[in-house]
Amino acid sequence: MIKTKGYATHDSNAKFAEWEFERRDVGPHDILIDIEYAGICHSDIHTARGEWDAMMPTMYPLVPGHEIVGRVSQIGNAVTKFKVGDVAGIGCFVDSCRECTPCVDGFEQFCYKGAAYTYSGTYMDRETPTYGGYSDKYVVDENYALKVTSDGDLAGVAPLMCAGITTYSPLRRFGVGPGQNVGIVGLGGLGHMAVKLAVAMGANVTVFSTSPSKEEDAKKLGAHNFVVTSDPENLTPLTGTFNFILDTVSADHDVNMYIGLLGIRGTMVVVGVPPNPNVIHSFGLIFGNKTLAGSLIGGIAETQEMLDFCAEHNIKSDVEVIKPDYIETAYDRTVKADVRYRFVIDMKNA
Ligand SMILES: [Zn+2]
Ligand SMILES: [Zn+2]
Repeated sequence: MIKTKGYATHDSNAKFAEWEFERRDVGPHDILIDIEYAGICHSDIHTARGEWDAMMPTMYPLVPGHEIVGRVSQIGNAVTKFKVGDVAGIGCFVDSCRECTPCVDGFEQFCYKGAAYTYSGTYMDRETPTYGGYSDKYVVDENYALKVTSDGDLAGVAPLMCAGITTYSPLRRFGVGPGQNVGIVGLGGLGHMAVKLAVAMGANVTVFSTSPSKEEDAKKLGAHNFVVTSDPENLTPLTGTFNFILDTVSADHDVNMYIGLLGIRGTMVVVGVPPNPNVIHSFGLIFGNKTLAGSLIGGIAETQEMLDFCAEHNIKSDVEVIKPDYIETAYDRTVKADVRYRFVIDMKNA
């Protein structure tokens, strides 16, 4: 077994402290990653604080982190994709059954047997708990690791593993490209990635936000237009003008307002999970043959495609790098949306 230093919380108070645990030895198909950076995703906070217990009970001790990037330091004798020294990433899951229809079709995140989530889950033996990236090492099957070819600093690469693929997948699935009007609702960790990606895909991008203070940032990220949504009057002239809208907001808000902005056969995708259900007016969808859809991360092949796209277009997340002793403060600030745009823990020097 491999001794690993992690940062764990032992209950829903989410107080983090150093905690030592063991990873499995490197098997024939495994690689050992020396973790350099782990992003803080909002899911980490919900899980650490037990806020999703009704659906997915948190397994304590919890070492969160599913936006992982580091360097390969050891490989199993059957490994073909990686060599020692390569940069590798891990996203939201580290294994799946590999046999069911979703697994075969490249949607491992929807494995019928339940994927092995990177933390607060179990491996496919359904016994061994998984511990995430707030740690110095991870042993993972090479088929569930991602290759990173981006140049330079890796801190901004970590959030691509969740925030990147969460936004890339729906943009690709609905064919976002040049000449299209694309709206991004919310400019947080997800929204800022969506803006960069949609701009790189050639779309004309509008950011919808409740905070006028974010206009300057939106433009810096490449957005062409910025609309403050607190005054509904600002939306009226845009009725029926969008091909595609990606809604990244996790606070309660009226989805119908955005459906009205879609043109004929337009599509809106939700990736945020507000606390209360939305009431959808069917007329808004029927008139114009509009589509309302959802999306959850992406499979391994598509995540690799996203990383390659980001390397080619020099896209990274805007990050604030922190030390592990700042995790609790970073959680509080993330909840208050006081981060531009992702906290990343420096595990290299932890
Ligand atoms: Zn995440
Ligand atoms: Zn499966």
